[in-house]
Amino acid sequence: MGEDMKDMVKAHCYCCDKDVLILILCRKMMNTKIQGLNIMHDGIVAFCSECHGKVYSKEVDDKNIEEAQKEYDYEVDRWNRLKEGNDTNEGNKI
Ligand SMILES: [Zn+2]
Repeated sequence: MGEDMKDMVKAHCYCCDKDVLILILCRKMMNTKIQGLNIMHDGIVAFCSECHGKVYSKEVDDKNIEEAQKEYDYEVDRWNRLKEGNDTNEGNKI
């Protein structure tokens, strides 16, 4: 439990032309555009366990969108606070 590779899911690999187990091999910075904002966030990429080609997986895609959304919310929150006043109110957290 708790290992990164535990949740291996199946996805369709067009290269192998069948459903294969996917490997979550990479965690890298990704760039997703939300509401016209470029959001940098951690992302995962799924690879076919047999031919090692990149495969599309809805679960992986959902996770990346979730991460992007979290970063987006954080950025919007930060911007709103910057707009309200240029000084940082360190002791004044909501
Ligand atoms: Zn494959």
